[in-house]
Amino acid sequence: SVTVGVLALQGAFSEHLQLFKVAANQVESHHEGSAKKYWTFIEVRTQKELSSCDALVIPGGESTAISLVAQRCNMLEPLRDFVKVLRKPTWGTCAGLILLAESANRTKQGGQELIGGLDVRVNRNHFGRQIESFQADLDLPFLNEVTPDLVPFKAIFIRAPIVEKLLPTVDGEQQGEASITGTVIAPSLQIDKSVAKAVHLHDVEVMGILPGRTKKVKNDLGSELDDEAGDIVAVRQANVFGTSFHPELTNDPRLHIWWLQQVDAAVDSR
Ligand code: GLN
Repeated sequence: SVTVGVLALQGAFSEHLQLFKVAANQVESHHEGSAKKYWTFIEVRTQKELSSCDALVIPGGESTAISLVAQRCNMLEPLRDFVKVLRKPTWGTCAGLILLAESANRTKQGGQELIGGLDVRVNRNHFGRQIESFQADLDLPFLNEVTPDLVPFKAIFIRAPIVEKLLPTVDGEQQGEASITGTVIAPSLQIDKSVAKAVHLHDVEVMGILPGRTKKVKNDLGSELDDEAGDIVAVRQANVFGTSFHPELTNDPRLHIWWLQQVDAAVDSR
């Protein structure tokens, strides 16, 4: 069986668990036995619970609170290990995306500790305050791996972060230089060529763009890209996936199904 944990220190963890139960019945798995038998979903609050997980979700909520609680119950290092050393599939939604970023703004110095794993910089509360929360139809082309109909995803943004910058992925041998390894942009994702060029400096895959709301996207060379480029609201880098919005607050299980399929494949290739 594959155990998927949802970090349950604060935030919308029970909603994730509920939608996973719906999603599990629809995951195409080549494993024998019923889907229900195959997947186990648990709330994670302790190191012991975390160590029993094959994959983890960090929910939306308040990233500062999650981080502080994690610190107090000695979960920060185990979480970093899970993501960066054991490299197990991890998905962060909203506050979870913030925690999985290597860099976030509006975090007081010495205040918020991040887990990291995604070489991105996020801008917290990008769209403003709670009353500026909104819902938007989002094209997520990779969801055609789940259903071919490509119905836009109703994405809920609540004091949501965006990915404002892709950081150069620096490995040991290429100190100071952006490494140009293995970057794939979600194939059918249509994005501006200038963005594509910037994206190719990174191992980060841009998986979803919210068109036309903002401003400027900066690339790491310091130049600013087109207004039209939109906001990056879903990214993936190796085992780590992050979304700005809250799929667990909808009853559309497609993203949960898709991610469980990724988990299934990752567990299989171990
Ligand atoms: N604004 C919150 C934070 O900075 C995230 C909001 C959310 O998860 N809905 O942590």
